[in-house]
Amino acid sequence: MSEFFDPYNADRPLMLKCSCGRNHSPADHHAEVAADAAAATLRARSETAEFEAYSQEFIEATLVKALFPQDQERRNFLRAVGKKTAMAAIASVLPVASLQAMAQDKGPLEKPNLKIGFIPITCATPLIMAHPLGFYSKQGLNVEVTKTAGWALIRDKVLNKEYDASHFLSPMPLAISLGLGANATPMSVATIQNVNGQAITLSLKHKDNRDPKNWKGFKFGVPFDYSMHNFLLRYYLAESGLNPDTDVQIRVIPPAEMVANLRAGNIDGFLGPDPFNQRAVFDEVGFIHMLTKDLWNGHPCCAFGASTEFIQKNPNTFAALYRAVLTSAAMARLPGNRELIAKVISPTQYLNQPEAVISQVLTGKFADGLGKVQNVPDRADFDPMPWQSLAVWMLTQMQRWGYIKGNVDYKQIAEKVFLITDARKHMKDLGQTVPTGPSYIKHKIMGKEFDPSKADAYLKSFAIHKMG
Ligand SMILES: [Zn+2]
Ligand SMILES: [Zn+2]
Repeated sequence: MSEFFDPYNADRPLMLKCSCGRNHSPADHHAEVAADAAAATLRARSETAEFEAYSQEFIEATLVKALFPQDQERRNFLRAVGKKTAMAAIASVLPVASLQAMAQDKGPLEKPNLKIGFIPITCATPLIMAHPLGFYSKQGLNVEVTKTAGWALIRDKVLNKEYDASHFLSPMPLAISLGLGANATPMSVATIQNVNGQAITLSLKHKDNRDPKNWKGFKFGVPFDYSMHNFLLRYYLAESGLNPDTDVQIRVIPPAEMVANLRAGNIDGFLGPDPFNQRAVFDEVGFIHMLTKDLWNGHPCCAFGASTEFIQKNPNTFAALYRAVLTSAAMARLPGNRELIAKVISPTQYLNQPEAVISQVLTGKFADGLGKVQNVPDRADFDPMPWQSLAVWMLTQMQRWGYIKGNVDYKQIAEKVFLITDARKHMKDLGQTVPTGPSYIKHKIMGKEFDPSKADAYLKSFAIHKMG
C-alpha cells in the first residue's frame, strides 16, 4: 500500500495527505512552495548592496523625518549646525538613544528570544514578512510571530507580558496608556506600520444605495473601539449628517469575522482592514464603497510598539527589533516587491487567504465588486511615521465621541506615547543643539484641515458629537 494516500486509514482524511508527505491540501502545498520561492527571491533582493544602501537611507530618513516633521525646520537646523553635527546628534538619540539605526557597535541583546503578536491583516505585512525573510535573525533575534484572533486579546497578551512587542491599532497604545478599557499602563509606539489600506465595504444589496445620507438604520462593523476604523467611519457618517451613535449601529467585530457577518446579513457593511474588504468582493458578498485613502490620504492605521517598561528594560533588543521592522517596511514600500510579498504572507500560518486576494490589496490593482477593476497603487502603503500630530487627531476623536471626558492635554499624551518625542529631550540631556521649531504638522481629512496646534477649536467645530 502506498504511504502517500493511505485510503483505508479511518483516522486520516484521505484528501489531506499531500504527496510531499505532509498533512495539508495540494492547494496549501502549492501556496507554501510559492511562498518559499518568493521569500528566497526577496531575501536575495534584500542582500544586494543596492537594497542595503537604500534600506539604510530609508531608516535614516525615517528617523530624521520623525525628528523634523516640518521640512523647513529640518533645513534650518541643518544650516545652523552643519550636516556632520546634525548627523551625530540624530544618530545618538533617535527614537531613543539605543534605537539608532546607524550605530556601528550594537550593545548586547538583553532578550534574544521574543514573542510578537499580530492580527492576520495586511497592515501587519512588514512585521510578518520580517520573519520568513530573515530580518529578525539578521539582528540576532529569535522571534516567534504569533497570530492572534482579535484586538482585545492583543491588548491582554501585551499587558500580561505574554507578548514582548506587538502589532497594535495606532490608537490602542494611547487608550491603554490612558487606562481606557484596561488598567492604565504606559505604552510606546515605535513606528506607524502602515498608512491607508482600509475600506468601507457594503453588502451587495446596497449597490444602488451609495449615498450615506440614506444609510439611517444601517448596522456597521469596526474592528475595535480604539481604531482608526471606528474614528474614520464616524467621521464619514457625521460629515454626511448622520449621528453615528443614534442614526446607525456600530459594533465591534474581529476582522476575520467581518465577511461572514456581512454574508449572514448581520451587518450592512464594515469599515475594516484588508484583506477582508477584498475578500468580501472575492466571495461575492460585498463591494468596496470607498477606500479610506479617499477620506484621508496617508492616514495612519496600525502601529508597532511595546510597553514602556519592556523598552526601558531591553533597549538594545528593542532597537534591534525596530531595525528589523523598518528594514521590512523599506522592502514592503517598493511596488516591485508587492506581488512576491503577497505570496510570502498569504499561506495558512500568516494571513491564511487566497494569494489573489492579498495581491489585489498590495498591488492596488483590484476588482471593486461593482464590475470594475481599479488601479490605485497607494491603496496600501507602509510609511513608518510616528507623528505626534496623528496622535493628537486620534485624541480629538476619542473626545468627540465620548471615549474620553473632560479636558485633554493632547500634546503631553501624544508625546509620551509616540516615541520620537523623547528624542528632543534626549538631545538636550546630551548637551546637543535641539531643534526648536514646531514638531507638529497639519493634515487634511475629507477636505478639512486639522491643525494640531488648534486641536480644541477643531474639536468644537463639529456639529455632530457626543460631548456633554
Ligand atoms: Zn505538501
Ligand atoms: Zn491597520
